[in-house]
Amino acid sequence: LVSATSVQSRSEEGQDRAIRPTKLADYIGQPAVSEQMEIFIGAAAARGEALDHVLIFGPPGLGKTTLANIIANEMNGTIKTTSGPVLEKAGDLAAMLTSLEEGDVLFIDEIHRLNASIEELLYPAMEDYQLDIMIGEGPAARSIKLELPAFTLVGATTRAGLLTSPLRDRFGIVQRLEFYSTADLTHIVMRSAKMLGLEIETEGAQEIAKRSRGTPRIANRLLKRVRDYAQVKSDGVISQKMADKALNLLKVDSHGLDHMDRRLLITMMEQFEGGPVGIESMAASISEERGTIEDVLEPYLIQQGYIIRTPRGRMVTKSAWLHFGLTAPSNS
Ligand code: ADP
Repeated sequence: LVSATSVQSRSEEGQDRAIRPTKLADYIGQPAVSEQMEIFIGAAAARGEALDHVLIFGPPGLGKTTLANIIANEMNGTIKTTSGPVLEKAGDLAAMLTSLEEGDVLFIDEIHRLNASIEELLYPAMEDYQLDIMIGEGPAARSIKLELPAFTLVGATTRAGLLTSPLRDRFGIVQRLEFYSTADLTHIVMRSAKMLGLEIETEGAQEIAKRSRGTPRIANRLLKRVRDYAQVKSDGVISQKMADKALNLLKVDSHGLDHMDRRLLITMMEQFEGGPVGIESMAASISEERGTIEDVLEPYLIQQGYIIRTPRGRMVTKSAWLHFGLTAPSNS
């Protein structure tokens, strides 16, 4: 266990690592995921087998990497981490696979961005723990088969729909992470504050939780900025009032919408009369990548009921007009 004082003196990155849960018991929220993983991990461990391959999907910051690390930890294995865009050549993947030991976890973040030839190399590795690689070139080229230890592939992606179906079908366990409730995020903020050695009131943690877009990474980030504010402006204690003031300064509104959320909604209302508007037009109007809108902005705004998806494009809802104190055009 890490003591609070030792965490306090570290760099921000070190602090992030220190507050990341390492055991399933510390993985707050996501009740369905936690309960299932506890059973699957327990059963595999009792049989002395590697856990089946796990696909985790959900928007950024909801705990995919954290869960991958917990799986390795709970299986008493080591985790090797890489990502789809980093694995450029077959040799890159082969090197990672051959460095694994029985029961280890290979974590591939952004697994939807693997190139096709590498993805095909993964199929036999996942199914039969076998690696088929070509060595040499031209007429001298030949293929060799390597046996791999029984390992667990954990893949993470923002949306399940981005994966090819042959890849998706090879995962025995598929987990979808949901946005966190305010109660769960309050719990996360209280836990992080304790590990960082901060003084926080429950109402202060609640205020941060409410305004964190349902996302633990954002909650932890806002906690640190509120800490800075409370330290400079008062005695360092994070009260509801301190949290509110600091978050207003950071331009996170009382419903937890940030600058980008508001920009997207306002553009949809002012330039497109609330929609329906196509994703490409939205992206062009706010000079943001389509992927960022689909992966980061839109999921939370849809979950909160500010945007709906229709066959003709995205539309803002009555709540969105109300939120900004605007009136919806009569034809909408
Ligand atoms: P992702 O990989 O989905 O982008 P991460 O796993 O990196 O997200 O999570 C971001 C941070 O949020 C982590 O460093 C961790 O501290 C915190 N976190 C995520 N999920 C949980 C959880 N269920 N309980 C407590 N903290 C969490």
